[in-house]
Amino acid sequence: LAGGDRELLLNAIRDVADHPRAGVVFKDITPLLADPHAFSVLTDALAAAVTRQGATAVAGLEARGFILAAPAALRAGVGFVPVRKAGKLPGETMGERYELEYGTAEVELHTDAVGPGDRVLVIDDVLATGGTAEASVRLIRRTGAEVVGVTVLLELGFLGGRERLLSALDGTPLESL
Ligand code: AMP
Repeated sequence: LAGGDRELLLNAIRDVADHPRAGVVFKDITPLLADPHAFSVLTDALAAAVTRQGATAVAGLEARGFILAAPAALRAGVGFVPVRKAGKLPGETMGERYELEYGTAEVELHTDAVGPGDRVLVIDDVLATGGTAEASVRLIRRTGAEVVGVTVLLELGFLGGRERLLSALDGTPLESL
């Protein structure tokens, strides 16, 4: 995004200090979601990424990724697939674990959600350490689908998520709006 649209979205994201714990500056997108013009500009930009990458499906990462990915998928005319935290999906699932600062987490996907021949764009709100996105890309690739990119609204550059995705995932294209 450039110029006015970039400013519009940046101004609609609120920094909340010390959430969810001391030392973290949380990027709160709820003001952006509450502004239909800003939300529409963001949805257009995400839908353009879907089309540009030739994606046949969009995977949204729980939970805020769902809010951004679903309208983008609709606008681009492709399906939406949820990547969820462990234990939430009702059907047959596959999972990928990843390391957190303290302990581990796991993301899950329905085994029949995507597969060979699908071209999947992964969408989330914020790329921080990149752990969630990395595990999600590994998970989607295990189905036989191709991951054509990861697109996020914001990237916290100082946490090294971009480098992690590039090295762990063999050049998966990352775009932050
Ligand atoms: P990570 O796996 O470290 O890249 O973080 C992934 C998830 O945590 C993303 O889905 C983000 O929505 C959320 N997240 C991490 N750090 C922040 C932050 N500073 N502000 C808002 N969301 C964050």
